[in-house]
Amino acid sequence: MSLRLTNSLSNRTEAFNPLEEGKATIYCCGVTVYDLCHLGHARSYINWDVLRRYLIWRDYDVTFVQNYTDIDDKILNKASAEGTSMEEVSEKNIEAFEIDMARLNILPADKMPRATRCIPEIHTLIKELEDKGAAYGSDGDVYFDVSKAKNYGQLSGRDPNEQQQGASGRTSGNEEERKRHPFDFALWKSAKDGEPSWESPWGPGRPGWHIECSAMVRQQFGKTIDIHLGGGDLVFPHHENEIAQSETANDAPLARLWMHNGMVNVGGTKMSKSLGNFTTIRALLDSGVSSMTLRLFVLQAHYRKPLDFTADALDAANTGWKGLNAALGLGELFTRPLGWPQSEPLASGAVKSEVSVDSEVLLSAKNRFVEAMDQDLNTSGALAVLFDLAKPLKALANRLDRGDQVDHTKDDLDELLKRWRLLRELSGVLGLQLETAAADTATNQIDDGGEIEAAIAARKQAKQNKDFATADRIRDDLTAKGIELIDKPGGITEWRRS
Ligand SMILES: [Zn+2]
Repeated sequence: MSLRLTNSLSNRTEAFNPLEEGKATIYCCGVTVYDLCHLGHARSYINWDVLRRYLIWRDYDVTFVQNYTDIDDKILNKASAEGTSMEEVSEKNIEAFEIDMARLNILPADKMPRATRCIPEIHTLIKELEDKGAAYGSDGDVYFDVSKAKNYGQLSGRDPNEQQQGASGRTSGNEEERKRHPFDFALWKSAKDGEPSWESPWGPGRPGWHIECSAMVRQQFGKTIDIHLGGGDLVFPHHENEIAQSETANDAPLARLWMHNGMVNVGGTKMSKSLGNFTTIRALLDSGVSSMTLRLFVLQAHYRKPLDFTADALDAANTGWKGLNAALGLGELFTRPLGWPQSEPLASGAVKSEVSVDSEVLLSAKNRFVEAMDQDLNTSGALAVLFDLAKPLKALANRLDRGDQVDHTKDDLDELLKRWRLLRELSGVLGLQLETAAADTATNQIDDGGEIEAAIAARKQAKQNKDFATADRIRDDLTAKGIELIDKPGGITEWRRS
């Protein structure tokens, strides 16, 4: 069986063949940090989180990079409206983004470069494009000349010979007048009064939007990556322009595979900040929708298709999740009456394929899960397998809930335990994990940093003793108290309040 994914570049579903066997290099276009994230972002990043978790589960060594656009007109406008600085607006929204993603159980990217910290790389790239005659200066700005790009339009199908105004995306001022062709786009924008700017060979200014991603991909990975991700609304002009810049400079493909997710619709219209019909992730979760319900709601649709956001659909997802959650909770809540092993810690982070499956029923379930996911991430098919697995577990949970006695001779508890372990592992591949009331409210606040450091030290010790159950329990206890642990290379663990 091999994983097949739809490549927006070829418009075909292709076998995933990474540059280096067993590895996957992935770049995902991140957010422009001027406001809170909405449901459209949640959808996109949940889908890509599942792709990443699935690759890890299939034993790929995945490197996932996602950027922050922290210089943009929208951020500057927000800063002037709020009477603060660009940095303050960016910092505040980066922090909010990280909290929201953690609430949705989205794994943090391995690296999250910021445009403002990548200026030298951006300069180098622009200089190379200029040396190749693909960039020109105009009134202090520098533009990319699309007539110099091979196959411009290869991703979006747009034809530069068809004149379209405003085709280069986020333009400002008299940009349209300074360009030779409407599709040309700014690589470097000259400084305006009162705006942050950087020195450059073309005078003080700031980078255009598209160039940062091309510079970051090359900085983090080199010329070519395996998968480039983004929302369907980024195909044109953003991704088309990334390809034009990178491939003109590098004479190599930017990405072997381009994947795009569909939009979230409300009443048939795309949800977006600019249209004002959006719901922020935060507002939704704070209103009592659980993060796992939201995840399940998103994953019931195929990532490429539009997703209709309605109260009924969310209710249905909630019902589905309650059943799954009851089944997942069986191991945690009923260890004693079932005589199951006490320490069955929840896996934190991404899981690798570990559960050995010896019964035919469970093997078939696992195979059906893999078949569905291999089929261009058919998450609704994968969820159907989870619901099947959960059925007898849910029934058992209901009986225990009612106070019924479990008959150890009649009930095949060994088989049910294996089923539960498989369910938990496969749920983890979709980022679905047991949700307890405590995890949602996190009322148990820790105020003492010393207490946290002591817990971290105890966890490190447990890990050294290979007592992973205890190590995981310590982490879970801290999570329930609103403390998130971040493991860094070299055995260092940092913490923050989530
Ligand atoms: Zn990008």
